[in-house]
Amino acid sequence: MPDTLTFTHIPTPTPTPAAEREAILAKGGFGTAFSDHMVTIEWTEGRGWHDAQIRKREPFQIDPAAAVLHYAQEIFEGLKAYRAESGGVTLFRADQNAKRLNNSATRLAMPQLPEASFLEAVESLVRIDKDWIPGGNGSLYLRPFMFANEPFLGVRPAHHFIFSVIASPVGDYFKHGPKPVNVWLSKEYTRAAVGGTGAAKCGGNYAASLIAQGQAYDNGCDQVLFLDAAEHRWIEELGGMNIFFVRDDGSLFTTPLGTILPGITRASLIELATSKGIQVEERKYSFEEFQADAQSGKVTEAFACGTAAVLAAIGEIRFTGGSFKIGDGNGGPLTATLRDELVGIQRGRIADTRGWVRKVL
Ligand SMILES: *Cc1c(COP(=O)(O)O)cnc(C)c1O
Repeated sequence: MPDTLTFTHIPTPTPTPAAEREAILAKGGFGTAFSDHMVTIEWTEGRGWHDAQIRKREPFQIDPAAAVLHYAQEIFEGLKAYRAESGGVTLFRADQNAKRLNNSATRLAMPQLPEASFLEAVESLVRIDKDWIPGGNGSLYLRPFMFANEPFLGVRPAHHFIFSVIASPVGDYFKHGPKPVNVWLSKEYTRAAVGGTGAAKCGGNYAASLIAQGQAYDNGCDQVLFLDAAEHRWIEELGGMNIFFVRDDGSLFTTPLGTILPGITRASLIELATSKGIQVEERKYSFEEFQADAQSGKVTEAFACGTAAVLAAIGEIRFTGGSFKIGDGNGGPLTATLRDELVGIQRGRIADTRGWVRKVL
């Protein structure tokens, strides 16, 4: 297999008219509107990756027996393209998304995509659809994904995959903007077990979490908090975001890697906070202890983090039979500082000293 794929560019003959596009961008929201183009690359057993294309966004034609529809052999990534304040367009730590996609691929018995091809795919889509990047607090959310496209009902890793990237102009992730979010503790369902797929970014993890996410919405919450599968005791993470806690002494801690999704936002915050002289710990934390610490004031802030929402303060935890607030329920100063710092680097307002920001245009 050649190391570098050659991408064929076939611009859409029917781009969205500028006025229509501007109206879509002005609406904001998350994940409801899509740009004009997509990337597709095919992989077949024996031949490897081939037919890399940047082309018009359109529906896939897949066989009703395609393995993904039956056995959920699917993984994805999520990253954003930003319009830098100084002009130009940037990505944040896209190389980390390329590496994580391959880690997820290993776990789901899927082929490795060379990092250079991942980056070229993402960057080519951003360049061709650059007019879809909103200004202000918006960004172009990029969704790389890979799925098994072999029509075969036997159970084994598929022999045919499609890697694709689509793009969606987004505003704030939560409908009510960057206000503190309420979180629902699921006592009944878990997200991941040791030996399972918790650390892989795969659609199956989300499918299994949706019933709990539905209960969160029913209880006036934005996200669901999962505990470990073995003891139902240790805090893991939210449905689609990692979680951090702030102590009254100004130190920060988060739950350890293993069955949680290794967030790039999580890793970046650990590095940022540490270099600001803030003590950061990765430790197991029980829900029981969290409730006691929030009520005694030993834990003063908690926040959720991920690419989509960046950093969102957690105002209140709700569960069957009770609820408690974190601090006064309105978020706190460290959450706000870290959010400003991370967003500042992502948007080019704060100098990037770590090589995290990648210039695309
Ligand atoms: C994607 C994801 C995250 C956040 O990862 P980032 O790289 O920070 O965007 C956290 N938890 C889950 C379950 C995820 O799928």
